[in-house]
Amino acid sequence: MIQKTPVIRKCISCKKKFDRVNLLKITKDHKQGIMLKNGMGRSAYICKSKKCYEDSKIKKKLQKALKTFLEPEFIYIFEKEIESYNQ
Ligand SMILES: [Zn+2]
Repeated sequence: MIQKTPVIRKCISCKKKFDRVNLLKITKDHKQGIMLKNGMGRSAYICKSKKCYEDSKIKKKLQKALKTFLEPEFIYIFEKEIESYNQ
């Protein structure tokens, strides 16, 4: 029997470790820029707890983790995504 080993990543807000499937991945892709869930490159993870994704400093933390400036277009997509977790 083949067992899948969970990939553990750390939430940039609460610093707790989670299985990657339970985290929202934000990647600074080499070619396409900042991407949600997809992309290759430097990545940051946020757990799906309200406390973390609604953290008022989360955008600053993301920019620091990805070492980049987040465009308003990305913030809009990001906010739409986290809105869906509230339902
Ligand atoms: Zn967290």
